[in-house]
Amino acid sequence: MNIYTGTSINNEIAIGKIFVYINDDFKIEKRHVKDTDGEIKRLKDAINKAISELESLYERASDKTSLDNADIFNAHIMILKDDSFAGFAMNIISSENVNAEYAINNTKIHFMEMFTNMEDEYFKNRAFDIKDVTDRVLSALTGKKKNKIELDEPVILVAENLTPSETLLLDKNKILAFVLTNGSINSHSSILAKSMNIPALIGTDINLKSNTINDINGINDVNDVNDVNGIKCINDINDINGKIAVVDGFEGKLYIEPDEIILKEKNRRIEENKKEMERLLNLKGKGNITKSGRKIDVYANAMNLSDIDLALFNDAGGIGLFRSEFIFLESNDYPTEDEQFLIYKDILEKMGEKEVIIRTLDLGADKQTDYLGLDEEENPALGLRGIRICLKNKKLFKTQLRALLRASVFGNLSIMYPMIISIEEVKEIKEVVNEVKSELDKENIKYSENIKHGIMVETPAAVMISDELAKEVDFFSVGTNDLTQYTLAIDRGNTKLDKFYNPYHEAILRMLKIVADNAHKNNIRAAICGELGSDIDFLDKILEIGYDEISIAPGKILKIREKIRSMK
Ligand code: PEP
Ligand code: MG
Repeated sequence: MNIYTGTSINNEIAIGKIFVYINDDFKIEKRHVKDTDGEIKRLKDAINKAISELESLYERASDKTSLDNADIFNAHIMILKDDSFAGFAMNIISSENVNAEYAINNTKIHFMEMFTNMEDEYFKNRAFDIKDVTDRVLSALTGKKKNKIELDEPVILVAENLTPSETLLLDKNKILAFVLTNGSINSHSSILAKSMNIPALIGTDINLKSNTINDINGINDVNDVNDVNGIKCINDINDINGKIAVVDGFEGKLYIEPDEIILKEKNRRIEENKKEMERLLNLKGKGNITKSGRKIDVYANAMNLSDIDLALFNDAGGIGLFRSEFIFLESNDYPTEDEQFLIYKDILEKMGEKEVIIRTLDLGADKQTDYLGLDEEENPALGLRGIRICLKNKKLFKTQLRALLRASVFGNLSIMYPMIISIEEVKEIKEVVNEVKSELDKENIKYSENIKHGIMVETPAAVMISDELAKEVDFFSVGTNDLTQYTLAIDRGNTKLDKFYNPYHEAILRMLKIVADNAHKNNIRAAICGELGSDIDFLDKILEIGYDEISIAPGKILKIREKIRSMK
């Protein structure tokens, strides 16, 4: 039995088989080939396939002008059509008698280095474009899709890290637990683990690093694999893949091939957990009211339809944050107005009279997907994200607003806008909403007159002008995940900084108070939808500051209800 330790995200236990997922982009092997002409043809075919994919992406993007960056796809086509690029790869094949994958990968390294070393910022950034296009060619050559994790049975997924789109493409019924060697408490995979109510460990001390120096460079030369400068680092991948393990979120431990005693003990804890859940289910239908009669709304956070079912099962008072960008991350192309409308309608109908707060697109930063063609940025968390993308791409924004307004007649909709930093943004949002309303009026399409419009307070700027913002909107919902990141200047996704990431910092506590006070002075509601809201030990502080609502992972609702009911 081997035991590894990590930081636990959720107090749950799972037992199952391990599946190790290595996201090393593409594992490139160097093979010696005799038929170089055949290999060059393979490469040309792959390049043509990549070009036609890019052409259709360009068409779709410019047709819908969902984002005005369709040109990026055109730029990628030009790289692939450029003789000096493709010619470089073909030359490697014929001069070194090697396979196409190896040749195009080396071409990538060569051109990326060339661009990275240029003085001009614009050209430096083109290195990312080179990576993108070559990955597309590699995907055509290998038939492998990046980011797609295929699972045959329920597993404990062990990986270095997971991007939001990788997390989304997972078959949730087949995930028993996440164990990440990186990851961070506030990453979206951690948030997902909480909403799925499964155990997850981050920063776990398993070694998933590559075998050889060549591996580290992304090239695994099968001829030299055991003898690269004599250096070979030991890793755990082969040792643990497929083995039975226990993830214990209470202890923050991963037991591989647990012995009988551990297995018996963990099975007992699982049974205990089940009983505890059954006990909590008796609280369904009861109020979130303290002993002294103070009421607080407990809503659920959701990112897909199965979360809505979980929210209902756990008796959520409403949906306090529906992360609509996940609809975009889950699909291969911009979801149309009708597609979005059907999803929003479904959510609203399921929730009946209960309030559903749908947050408009919060793309950018770590939430990226191929077809959006967002530019690589030096500081994506400080970059084009959230409301900035929507205000820059009005067509994209209006499409979502039309879908939301059309769906509003099917339930109790509120709309929330992310990453707000100014009054001007709120005013511009209102103008766009009014434009959409008059378009719908002209088309005789009905929408609810009672939609509430609120904002996420997740930047220090929004906190500091919350007295003015409160006059413009119907509610505030504090995104403590981003508010902590931006206030403390700490990347919420960086494992190494987890110990500095402190949502309980005095600065955050004061900000929470400023926001709640300004909301109440202006008779609007103050909510918390960031992860801090689900910290049972912080609940008395949230009530003391005066929050009216918290929105948390569905699986945590009944436990929080129990705590509220026990408070004086
Ligand atoms: C937040 O920032 O606290 C929040 C709720 O939004 P997200 O985690 O999706 O950025
Ligand atoms: Mg946020």
